[in-house]
Formats: sequence, C-alpha cells, structure tokens
Amino acid sequence: MGKSRAIEFSDIEFVFLDRDGVLNRQPPEGRFVTCAEELEMLPGVEDAVAALNRSGRRVIVVTNQRGIALGLYSQDDLARMHAKLRERLAARGGHLDGIYFCPHDEGQCNCRKPLTGLFEQAFLDFPRARPENSLMAGDSLRDIEAGLRLGMRTAFITGDVETISADAERARMLAQVSVASLPELVHRYLCFENR
Ligand SMILES: [Mg+2]
Ligand SMILES: [Zn+2]
Repeated sequence: MGKSRAIEFSDIEFVFLDRDGVLNRQPPEGRFVTCAEELEMLPGVEDAVAALNRSGRRVIVVTNQRGIALGLYSQDDLARMHAKLRERLAARGGHLDGIYFCPHDEGQCNCRKPLTGLFEQAFLDFPRARPENSLMAGDSLRDIEAGLRLGMRTAFITGDVETISADAERARMLAQVSVASLPELVHRYLCFENR
C-alpha cells in the first residue's frame, strides 16, 4: 500500500508483455491455448495496447509456448493465434511491435522465461531498447524473474484470482508494482491521456 503510487514509469519506452493472462485469458492450470478459437481476449486490453502505442512506446510480447514442444499445437497454430490477436488489437487501433516466443520444453534452451533469450532477441531487433528503459509485465513469477535478471522494471498482473499461490505472492513482493490487469497498469502508471 502506498509504495506503488509513488512509482513512475514515464521514462519507459519499451513495454514487454507476457501473453496468456495478460492479453488473453489464462487457461486453467496445466491447460494450454491450442488454437485461435481458444484465444479469448481479456477485457480492455485492446484499448490499453492502443494507448501504449499512441504514447510512443513499443509493445513487445514475450511468451513461453511449451505446448509446441509437447505436440499440443504447431507453429502454424501459434501463427494463427497471433494473427487473431493482432486483428483484435487492430480493430481498436492497436498493434504489437514484436512477438517473441519460446517453443521449447523446460531445460532445453536459453529462451524459456525466466531465462532471458527472448528479451535478448528483442534487444537485437530494437537497438534503442535497454533494460533501463524497459518494463516487463506478466502474470507469473517466471515473467517477473526474467525481467529482474536483466535489470528491467517489472509489473505483476494478478488477474482476478481468489487464491494467491506462493509463487504469485513472491512475484508480488519482487515486482515494482502489482495490478489486477493490463488496462489498470496502463491507465494508472503509463498513459494518462484520458484524465
Ligand atoms: Mg502468463
Ligand atoms: Zn526456448
């Protein structure tokens, strides 16, 4: 209480977002979004992304997609999911500047969050991006840990869960701010155009 209100993100130029539980609904524990039909946008995220775009910030998705390694869906299925995601955002004037995904299983790569390979790929593609001007927002401890490893600022998205897991509690302790949703993060800390 109190701590988060003093936080200022006005110098953030790059907003890294986790996907599931941030842009679209998180499937139940142990389940995956396996096709575009199962990708359900969370309320208000289209306008939140559009507001970030209008503020001049770059918006980049970094997502673990272990379901590919497990054979639950293909890279083509994932491309269709992301086409739908981009379409939904575009309908409200928003866009993503990049989507980076890890298709690997646990322990097989350097890009599955909390490892930092996806961010390093993005930093190569966006030479202005540095940990100091970047924010990572995600709904799992892995997201927050990945951001912190790089020295980025982090925002934990709690979602509207009834019970807080030990991991979520830890993520909340580690992140600079905790908010219920991406729209809350954007409108409370990043974009004030409607005030
Ligand atoms: Mg997530
Ligand atoms: Zn990977």
